[in-house]
Amino acid sequence: MKVHPKDVVVHYECPKCGERKAVYLGVVWTEPTKCVKCEENMYVESFDVSERALSEKGEGVARLLMSYVNAFHLSDEKEFINGCVYEHRTLQQNLFRMIYKMIQEWAKMSIDGRFDLRNEGTVNACRKIVTILDREIALPFI
Ligand SMILES: [Zn+2]
Repeated sequence: MKVHPKDVVVHYECPKCGERKAVYLGVVWTEPTKCVKCEENMYVESFDVSERALSEKGEGVARLLMSYVNAFHLSDEKEFINGCVYEHRTLQQNLFRMIYKMIQEWAKMSIDGRFDLRNEGTVNACRKIVTILDREIALPFI
């Protein structure tokens, strides 16, 4: 069973008039979402993840993270980073090990030509990172 984009819903609220809006993960935008009543930038209030998505564990969490990335503001980004870098140190290393595996996967996509202008910077940066670090990096579970 695959997690569907509609399994994750992002709820926005207008700080000025209180107008609310719900957007599915499948909707991608690059600008902050605007209030239909007063044109103010709306902010993420919460996320809903379906039981179905949560039953898919890894993919459900990936969908939630991608929803977050799709909807975040700079202040949210700092909170997210702080929420990770001040966690238990073993968990920090487990998280980075997973992130490094993702970097290795993006590096393979660069080598295989599986990218376009939207992710070219990511895959090429990952290829350089892996070229430099792959023989030197050690991430033991302690
Ligand atoms: Zn408004």
